[in-house]
Amino acid sequence: MNRSQPDPAAIPWINWTAQRIPDPVVRLRFLRAAAPAWQPKPPRKFSRARSAGLSLLALAALLAAGRLAVARRGAKAFSHAQAAVAVSANLVNAPVVIIPAGMALPKAESAPEIWQVEKTAAFETYSNGLRIDNKFSTGNHPRSYLAFAAARSGGAQDDARDRTQDEARTNPAGIVYHTTESLQAPFEPDQNGKLKQVGESLLDYVKRKKAYNFVIDRFGRVFRVVQEADAAEHAGYSVWSDEKWLYVNLNESFIGVSVETQTSPGQMEAAVTSAQIRATAMLTEMLRSRYHIPAGNCVTHAQVSVNPTRMLAGYHMDWASSFPFEEIGLPNNYARPLPSVAAFGFECDANYSRTAGARLSAGAGLGAWELAERAAAAGVSVSAYRKSLQNQYRDLLAATRGAVVSHEGD
Ligand SMILES: [Zn+2]
Repeated sequence: MNRSQPDPAAIPWINWTAQRIPDPVVRLRFLRAAAPAWQPKPPRKFSRARSAGLSLLALAALLAAGRLAVARRGAKAFSHAQAAVAVSANLVNAPVVIIPAGMALPKAESAPEIWQVEKTAAFETYSNGLRIDNKFSTGNHPRSYLAFAAARSGGAQDDARDRTQDEARTNPAGIVYHTTESLQAPFEPDQNGKLKQVGESLLDYVKRKKAYNFVIDRFGRVFRVVQEADAAEHAGYSVWSDEKWLYVNLNESFIGVSVETQTSPGQMEAAVTSAQIRATAMLTEMLRSRYHIPAGNCVTHAQVSVNPTRMLAGYHMDWASSFPFEEIGLPNNYARPLPSVAAFGFECDANYSRTAGARLSAGAGLGAWELAERAAAAGVSVSAYRKSLQNQYRDLLAATRGAVVSHEGD
């Protein structure tokens, strides 16, 4: 079917989504992408953007730049829009998000240097105020994985990847944030006993399952569970990529940090205590400083989780759109093109946007756009390009399993 513009049924959803994208620049780009079919009403966004600290002048410049870019890209951009619609046909029900390529990525801010101040068997303290409790600390198998070189010279025609560029590593490359999805007692002073009891039984469970490297309880206390040198069983089938590397199955390559809370479908506001925010920020600073983790590799489980059987993005959906990146001291990584879609060829089913919420849906839309651009650059159809990425994913998955098997045989 030749779709030259979004389904009219999508327009209320575009509006709904736009109003829920907190970052004014991301919101503008989202609206600009939908502009050929739907012109946004500016006054509301102007006032919202101004409240976010953007001057009217800067906004006008942004809009003008956007229009120029759209005009310059002309028919090519439009054919990409059609391709993006086609590539994420399953998002249309929900419906599709189309965002142009070239959207500025969040800045990769460097982490401040954090050092250990004190260490006993029971706890550690750090120079930024972080305190880690080792009461539930345990081990698992040593962290060991392959980082796959992301360079793709020939677009889709890269079946014979140059494996000599891949790297065997033992240091974590990123952080995946989870929610524990566990029982929640009211956060009130007279519930102290219940809150502590619930938190401790959760930690016992996490320790038995070796489920995360760290848990942050309701009081913001940071517990080490699986030591960082070991993999935790936190991310199952999952993928991520940065500018240089593709990561497959992040148990080995990413540290799992879980916050004792719950998320619900489409949720946009984090259900966390202020102590949990502060603790997550301090733990993130320390881990980034210790392991030189780029800000762009600090992401949520919903962003990385996939279902490889059905080749669908977003199997687990914790922190889908509600992770407070900015409050944690990170750039808004929801604004990155979703690697599962863009770099691995996963699709989103009809329920995706409902459970993902607006921020993750925008990332998935960006991913679909980037996929379409790469297909166009390689001179192949989007479906052929996607199939090639899916085949590559299966190869990388097999290589990952091979690496783990050989490791276990050591
Ligand atoms: Zn999770």
